[in-house]
Amino acid sequence: MAEQIPKTQKAMVFEENGGPIEYRDIPVPKPASDQILVHVLYSGVCHTDLHAWKGDWPLATKKPLVGGHEGAGVVVALGENVTNFKVGDYAGIKWLNASCLGCEFCLKGNESNCAEAVLSGYTHDGSFQQYATANAIHAAKIDKSANLAAVAPILCAGITVYKALKVSEASPGEWVAITGAGGGLGTLAIQYARAMGFRVVAIDSGDAKEKICKDLGAEVFVDFKSSDLSKQIVEATSGGPHAVIHVAVAEVAITLSTEYVRPAGTIVLVGLPGGAYVKSEVFTHVVKTINIKGSYVGNRADTAEALDFFTRGLVKSPYQIVGLSELNDVFKKMAAGEVVGRYVLDTSK
Ligand code: NAD
Ligand code: ZN
Repeated sequence: MAEQIPKTQKAMVFEENGGPIEYRDIPVPKPASDQILVHVLYSGVCHTDLHAWKGDWPLATKKPLVGGHEGAGVVVALGENVTNFKVGDYAGIKWLNASCLGCEFCLKGNESNCAEAVLSGYTHDGSFQQYATANAIHAAKIDKSANLAAVAPILCAGITVYKALKVSEASPGEWVAITGAGGGLGTLAIQYARAMGFRVVAIDSGDAKEKICKDLGAEVFVDFKSSDLSKQIVEATSGGPHAVIHVAVAEVAITLSTEYVRPAGTIVLVGLPGGAYVKSEVFTHVVKTINIKGSYVGNRADTAEALDFFTRGLVKSPYQIVGLSELNDVFKKMAAGEVVGRYVLDTSK
């Protein structure tokens, strides 16, 4: 039987960037003709949500805003034109909530580059609420076998790191270094990298992060606070990693990687420290023949593939559950670099 949809719901809302984030009762949205309404049971908390609240980036958020873009739940209503979901299906609210589907970028599977892209938890109210809408074509299909709390982090962190590893062009057996390896994206990146046949150097700081990185399959852990980080990485990988995936929120980490990346290797920028620039000394860049590229979430095919790794048990989310109303505490820990793995919010609390 279809569940009853209430008129109001709980949400975490802010009016101004950097202002208070309040646990409020707000109306349940109605799905437009091309949207599904998802009863979000769990939502991951991504560092992007912290950037959105702080207003770090040169792109304005909607205001007031309900953040969140790793929402996993059950479809409870369908817009009149929706044919690819049924009520009762599991669905995921992801960063790319909608795009035009007709432009050059959408046609080529670069939907995140669409000028009309709608972003959950940024330009469209996201998953820090109990009921959220998403374009049915873009919403993620989640297998009925999934634990909805565990799958939530795949919806941004998983898709993003899987795509970044694909575009790194590393080959099985080659070394991939991951900065920010102990955080939300990093802990998934280690596992996707292993599942794709790569050898992992994890870069982060502290005993808790070292332990989780090694438990998840990193062969080497290097503390980013050590003074000879580049030397340690080059030695451990006999000449430098073939690829570097940056999920650290740190400009300095990016600059440093131009030193230790292997000749002809690739540096993939994923983390988005506000106001940061890539600094690469041109002579070395050319003579080492390195590639530096950006990678921005993933398209619908990347989403399905990343979820398939999860469904097959090849990647697991290292997560802890707290209530939706505790988002402020999660942001404090995240800003201090104290989050190991991912926090997932239970929207019923
Ligand atoms: P997180 O806070 O969970 O993890 C960041 C990790 O980086 C922490 O463990 C921290 O200790 C580590 N770190 C900090 N400084 C470092 C340094 N100098 N060297 C190595 N590690 C360092 O954050 P997250 O949720 O994993 O997100 C990471 C970043 O990725 C954010 O900027 C987020 O906005 C961005 N992001 C980008 C995309 C994309 O599509 N490109 C998608 C999702 C998230
Ligand atoms: Zn995210």
